[in-house]
Amino acid sequence: MTRDLLYGGIEAGGTKFICAVADEDLNIIDQVRIDTTVPEETMGELKDFFDQYEVESFGISSFGPIDINHDSPTYGYITSTPKLPWQNYDFVGQMKAWFGDKPIAWTTDVNGASLAENTMGAAEGANSCLYLTIGTGVGGGFSMNGEIYHAHSHPEMGHIKVAQDPHDHFEGACPFHGNCIEGLVSGPAIEKRTGIKGADLPSDHEVWDYVADYLGQAIANYTLTLAPERVVLGGGVMHQDQLLDKVRLQVEKALANYVELPAMTDYIQLPKLGDNAGITGSLLLAKRALKDVK
Ligand code: ADP
Ligand code: ZN
Repeated sequence: MTRDLLYGGIEAGGTKFICAVADEDLNIIDQVRIDTTVPEETMGELKDFFDQYEVESFGISSFGPIDINHDSPTYGYITSTPKLPWQNYDFVGQMKAWFGDKPIAWTTDVNGASLAENTMGAAEGANSCLYLTIGTGVGGGFSMNGEIYHAHSHPEMGHIKVAQDPHDHFEGACPFHGNCIEGLVSGPAIEKRTGIKGADLPSDHEVWDYVADYLGQAIANYTLTLAPERVVLGGGVMHQDQLLDKVRLQVEKALANYVELPAMTDYIQLPKLGDNAGITGSLLLAKRALKDVK
């Protein structure tokens, strides 16, 4: 009897980890959600979960910044994250210590989601996909022709500057830059600005106009620099149903007809894989990691 190969996927988010085991067709057999606390605790639970299975390879899509440079002595580390207990954490090294020489693919959470949406989600059939998350942080991942874009390092699209509305005096919430795009529109930024969690704010609150304006400018900038065929917007903040159309309008406004684009309803979409985009990308990467060594 041939035994099905199993793949291990990890979506390491700033709030929660999702760990999953899937078969060769990427059907998820078991999955667990673990709170992101301190590495000893969160990674300990991760180990307990995967110890139940004999997986062939792992795909990890992690919150960042992370070191993806194979020549670097800190390859596989989470680096300068504001989440202090995770600063300079040797994620891949710990996985190797526990699980031996199994192939491990390592990329950012948004890169994983971008690959998944491009392969089997809202950007399926598009030659390129920009995936942005607007959640605990803001980040962007770009995939093209089925490959994730990794260069000297991974992009840090959440930390670009946009022009703040002259009536808006919010200082921002990014510990590094104050009012970068993450500092203006992430979930914690919205909460810092209003004193209320995003999910509890009314849909006609003025903050959503600011969020749409800033995201619109940012997406216009990414459009001009990357020229993606499709943009997918995920993350907890996008659970605000009124936001998507507002953002589409602001992107059009910021671009002022300078570039030829499809209809905004085609160009900018919500993830088709919903909250599963990240874990699906991790599993796709695990499958590829195994193929690459065979
Ligand atoms: P992570 O970034 O850890 O992967 P999420 O993408 O779920 O997690 O983002 C969590 C953030 O999204 C939190 O800051 C939360 O306040 C915010 N959020 C969740 N639901 C909503 C909502 N319905 N409206 C606005 N913000 C929300
Ligand atoms: Zn920043």
